[in-house]
Amino acid sequence: MKLTFLGTACGFPEKDRHCTCMLLETQGRLYLVDAGAPVVDILAQTGRKVEAVKGVFLSHFHFDHCVGVLQLMDLAMNYYRGSEFNLYTPQQHEVLAIKGMIAASGAQCESERVKMLAYNENLVFDDGYLKLIPIQTRHTCNNPASIIKSYAFYVETEGKRLLFTNDMSMHFMGDDFPKIAYEGHFDLVVTEGAHFTAAELEEKVSTIDMDVLAVTHVNMDENYEGLKAMQGRYDFQVVLPKDGDEIEV
Ligand SMILES: [Zn+2]
Ligand SMILES: [Zn+2]
Repeated sequence: MKLTFLGTACGFPEKDRHCTCMLLETQGRLYLVDAGAPVVDILAQTGRKVEAVKGVFLSHFHFDHCVGVLQLMDLAMNYYRGSEFNLYTPQQHEVLAIKGMIAASGAQCESERVKMLAYNENLVFDDGYLKLIPIQTRHTCNNPASIIKSYAFYVETEGKRLLFTNDMSMHFMGDDFPKIAYEGHFDLVVTEGAHFTAAELEEKVSTIDMDVLAVTHVNMDENYEGLKAMQGRYDFQVVLPKDGDEIEV
């Protein structure tokens, strides 16, 4: 299994970084975690086919995590006719928003091949190659008026266990960190580095039994040096990926 970071910026695109987007590849099948980058362009530029996409999972509907899905869903429905996958997003009104944008362009926004679904409490994605369980998080709990729901993802594939915390709450307010992180061994944990200090992150991750911790979505001005200082301090490896970096698990 290979994880490629297609976008690693935090909130705003940077000179060499798109916004958050990660690509899981197993047995020629592609799964996207967030799509804040121009994902169709990147797939084309790296010689990958949209038809190989077998699932798209949005952690939340902030645009730095989802803006690339509009083009992906439009083209998968209307142009790449060999495509067959579902897009999963936290809430049904987001499905309607994506459909509305595609319809506004004059294209077909309904398809039997390519569907858009909201997570529900019982949802477990399992296509026999990759299993993914969404876990609700508290990313915007500092703003009670926010209508955004956010999710972490627990993933099993090729006998490996992965966790994507995705965006957490400000300073982990409300004890926001997926509890499953402390249950058993993880081959890879991917988290973010924008909503808390490096010291606060260390407190959360130091006791996780894992091989690799990847920190993406890093606030480069405030957190980069502190995160870099974590490298070599623990049994697990700490990596700070750039766009295009790959991790073989
Ligand atoms: Zn974000
Ligand atoms: Zn966010």
